[in-house]
Amino acid sequence: MLGVRVFRATRCVPAAAAVLPREVAPTVRKAGVSLPLARVVAPLRPLTTAAIRCAHAPNAQQVETGPLEVTESLANERKVSVVFGDKSSSSFPYVWLRENCQCRACFNKIAIARTFLVEDLDLDIKPKDVQVTDGGLTVEWPDGHVSSFDGPWLHQRAFTQEARERQRSRYMLEKVHWGPEFQVPRVEYRPIMEDDRALLEWILLLERYGVVMLENSSTKKGAINDLINHFAFVKGTHYGTDYELVTNGTPNNLAYTGVKLGLHTDLPYYELPPGTTWLHCIQQHVGEGGANDVTDGLNAAKVLRERHPHHFETLVNTNLYFQDRGFEIYQFDKITKMRTIELDDLGNPNKIHLASQSRDSIMDLDSDGVIAFYHALKAFNHILYELSIRVKTTPGDILVMDNTRVLHGRTYFNDVSSNSTRRIHNAYVDWDELRSTRRVLQDKLNVSIT
Ligand SMILES: [Zn+2]
Repeated sequence: MLGVRVFRATRCVPAAAAVLPREVAPTVRKAGVSLPLARVVAPLRPLTTAAIRCAHAPNAQQVETGPLEVTESLANERKVSVVFGDKSSSSFPYVWLRENCQCRACFNKIAIARTFLVEDLDLDIKPKDVQVTDGGLTVEWPDGHVSSFDGPWLHQRAFTQEARERQRSRYMLEKVHWGPEFQVPRVEYRPIMEDDRALLEWILLLERYGVVMLENSSTKKGAINDLINHFAFVKGTHYGTDYELVTNGTPNNLAYTGVKLGLHTDLPYYELPPGTTWLHCIQQHVGEGGANDVTDGLNAAKVLRERHPHHFETLVNTNLYFQDRGFEIYQFDKITKMRTIELDDLGNPNKIHLASQSRDSIMDLDSDGVIAFYHALKAFNHILYELSIRVKTTPGDILVMDNTRVLHGRTYFNDVSSNSTRRIHNAYVDWDELRSTRRVLQDKLNVSIT
């Protein structure tokens, strides 16, 4: 049995020596006013590599004591508890340490991929020895294999609330809910194409608010592709990757008509609907109509939960078929089964799938379930419109929306009789590409977002 041993390193650097992050608060223009973008925090100073020797503690191990480095460890039956230079602490299970050994035999650092196999993992493994060394942890396993872990590497992976929240926001920024007073943030198109910081600031706005208007792009088709190809690729659908929404006489989608479109998310008949939808106004209908209603579905879900919890539960638990059939580049027959409100792992609404246009009349429900669903949908629809705003794009505008949370609709217009054709170029990009670009730019520009 492994005994309980305490390995203590001397803290030679006073707490005040730890450098606090420097805060910078850039602003972006939002409908003519300044809006705090995000707390952008400068990175922590580089860690010292020089070992610090302390004459007053001859028996202590001599280790680095940067804020993210290990100063103490306490081994017990299944885990080792570690204290870092910033006074934070975390336990690390042996089973986790063994699987995450960073040696060449267990981890390929070029591919950034684990090569150690689960079949070789002993769930009850206990180290022969655990030592604090050079501000990190060295673990010797019963078979003689030795694993070394850097302090900052362990600190980033600590199982503390703080470390977990840090990673959650790197994964996905917290979304800001909005209602009818909201003004869509407006950002100039050109700087985004030329400046990484402008590109990052725009993605941050889109991730937080779920809608941004890019202004002054071009009145020619292709501005969307130019921007998207700058950092990612256009997501293809059965309508292709490059199509215009123009009214035509034989529409295979209501978008190709002038009828009023109710608030909806795009393409819920895809198992993975596009993360963002882009509407580039090439030519706008002159006169009444052709505007976009836009609403924050997550805010509406929150209000529905407060006002009508039973309707909220219905929309969280009822699976609905969505369908799309037709011919464009090839013949298609799509069917999905989706819930209107999807919750995240913490129980909060994080995705909306709603498009009455393509919700199937075939329903995998009993007849009472059908009635309950319609009551819930009607209540939700009412709140969605109550919280909505209306915008009308002008030529050169690109309206970009988070298709997982922001619903859009379109007011009726008749460009056949008025002879002013409305031409909108539509494209999609997934959040995988946008969030990936945000993280790459965060690291490149040394910006951490809190
Ligand atoms: Zn190893």
